[in-house]
Amino acid sequence: MSESLPLKARINHAVLELIEGDITKQDTDAIVNAANSSLLGGGGVDGAIHRAAGPELLEETRALGGCQTGDAKISRGYHLKARHVIHTVGPIYGGSDSARLLASAYRRSLEVAQENNIHTIAFPSLSTGAYGYPVDQAAPIALETVCRFLQGDHNIQLVRFVLFNSAILQQFSKALAHQIQQQPGIVLPA
Ligand code: ADP
Repeated sequence: MSESLPLKARINHAVLELIEGDITKQDTDAIVNAANSSLLGGGGVDGAIHRAAGPELLEETRALGGCQTGDAKISRGYHLKARHVIHTVGPIYGGSDSARLLASAYRRSLEVAQENNIHTIAFPSLSTGAYGYPVDQAAPIALETVCRFLQGDHNIQLVRFVLFNSAILQQFSKALAHQIQQQPGIVLPA
């Protein structure tokens, strides 16, 4: 990957970072699950999180009563390193509302983190697996939404995007470079 593409930025008192890796291994206060609206588990990130957290997670999410597209709900993390899982439902790509709902899924996850005193949070690339959102369209929405949130009033210290392969990481890095140009107040750490 080109050396000139950024993997880290400072926004207000928060750090935003992009890494290649596995969301289930993160030791942030919370990890975000790319869930479906039943909150009863699924494939991709959802399946990996439920496997790593253990069956207690399903017991808890069963009682949450589902989650609407663009919204987020919180549970404990059980056998994960992360103390909490924030379950959000991104849109299935294609509807006229896809972009708004994808932004909403990121924003609601951060609001739920804020309400629960979570300071460090890791996101996967929502909706870009089974839900079919092209990464080159999803990454700018993800980065713009998170950067705007971090420019407001909040207690978040770290937002880490955990991207599953180098191609996804590169798309997110391009989108971060664009945000750094567009939004004043985003700085690259020295
Ligand atoms: P959705 O249903 O919202 O599309 P998926 O879980 O199918 O969610 O995929 C979302 C993204 O997460 C995809 O880019 C996929 O490659 C990636 N992914 C799958 N497993 C993991 C994992 N363990 N850690 C991080 N990212 C993952």
